[in-house]
Amino acid sequence: MIKIGDIEKFSIVDWPNKIAAVVFMQGCPWRCPFCYNQSLQNINTESNASWENLLHLLEHRQGIVDGVVFSGGEPLLQKNLPPAMETVKNMGFEIGMHTGGYNPEALKKVLPYLSWVGFDIKAPFEAERYKTATGGIADIERVKESLSLLLNSGINFECRTTCDPRILSPKDIYEIADTLSTLGVKEYHIQKYRPIESDKTTTDSDCEQFFNVEIEAYLKKKFEIFDARK
Ligand code: SF4
Repeated sequence: MIKIGDIEKFSIVDWPNKIAAVVFMQGCPWRCPFCYNQSLQNINTESNASWENLLHLLEHRQGIVDGVVFSGGEPLLQKNLPPAMETVKNMGFEIGMHTGGYNPEALKKVLPYLSWVGFDIKAPFEAERYKTATGGIADIERVKESLSLLLNSGINFECRTTCDPRILSPKDIYEIADTLSTLGVKEYHIQKYRPIESDKTTTDSDCEQFFNVEIEAYLKKKFEIFDARK
């Protein structure tokens, strides 16, 4: 049905205020330089987790977790995502999803099943900047279309940005915040980048520069819900 890289049975951090199981979908079309899940990027990589494992696990999770988050990788890459979500929903679980919004057509098909979305914003909304932040791949117009679908859906969602100092500056966070709040986004979070194994040059103070009183006060004013996630 779907290609799964890994399954987390119990999480309190992947869906705010919910206890969830998390399905890490195998495969992502992007190559963000700060990716923490590089082993999930190639859709052809084999794993020990399967759709059957997930169903078996969920049969024993009723009443223990509120919902299931489809994470990644990029869930929208897989064509069987709508029936997979439908099956899990019919088992009595709420459905959440983490996405970069790379495919608005695929997003449209899963909107009926979703209760919540965590939407990654990689960079300011400029074609070249977005491409750089995704390894030269993303099409910003398609990301914008996905965000607009979410805004018009009435589904609860957050936007969030991983503040990698190699591709973003504090000035970019102001720019992203202005764009999102103008579009009508109500919830935005900034997440601290923790250098991935291959990054030997970024220091902790480089990563900390996004977390100061001025930026946080600005973001608190712009959004109804804001967190600095360190
Ligand atoms: S979109 Fe997510 S999974 Fe895909 S490369 Fe970027 S950080 Fe990694």
